[in-house]
Amino acid sequence: MYIVMLGAPGSGKGTAAKMLAKKTNLPHISTGDMFREQIKKETELGKLANSYMSKGELVPDEVTINIVRDRLSWEDTKNGVILDGFPRTKMQAEVLDEILAEKGKKVDVVPEIIIPDQVIVDRILNRATCSNKDCGAIYNLKYKPSKTPGVCDVCGAELVVRTDDNEETIKNRLETYRKNVEELLSFYKEKGVLLSIAPEDPTADNASEQVVEKILEKCEE
Ligand code: AMP
Repeated sequence: MYIVMLGAPGSGKGTAAKMLAKKTNLPHISTGDMFREQIKKETELGKLANSYMSKGELVPDEVTINIVRDRLSWEDTKNGVILDGFPRTKMQAEVLDEILAEKGKKVDVVPEIIIPDQVIVDRILNRATCSNKDCGAIYNLKYKPSKTPGVCDVCGAELVVRTDDNEETIKNRLETYRKNVEELLSFYKEKGVLLSIAPEDPTADNASEQVVEKILEKCEE
């Protein structure tokens, strides 16, 4: 199964993608996480990516496509992947189709998570993530805090707040998302793989579980 998660920043697509990856045993590929790793290692790619990310802008297509092309050449992607944050432009979506076609594969399901703006902003401003990349648990400092402040309940690592999770950058990230998502939605709708999901109560504890259930149902069809 090749699954592409769509949803605004803060829509919960990262959380749902991680849960889905665990349930399906498929690799979770997040371009945002890949860039953040490069930034942490202070590589040239990291510096370049950060110059866009810190402003809430998209990293140029060719740079992003290169890292995804490389990641999709790994052996562990042969039965499918959960793509989170890629593609973000039509150009990326077209290249993804080409990369998969070379492997004799295609995008199977594209869940789009729909959440009201107010919930999104509230979530992003209160988001903290586990710094251990093998864990990556996500907390909400207001609604779903860790038991010990600043410490991950799951693995005990330090919790960090993303530097691009601030009010100024959020506005830009949401605008960028809206600007690009329409053509992605039409692209995947035309292929008959789009699955729009609007959780009844996106603030409910089990909202992500419900999203994942719906995706798994679709995968089994
Ligand atoms: P995310 O973790 O998915 O919210 O991504 C964080 C930031 O990384 C975005 O705001 C972009 O600056 C950059 N980024 C992640 N994925 C992509 C992509 N597919 N294309 C361009 N930029 C991306």
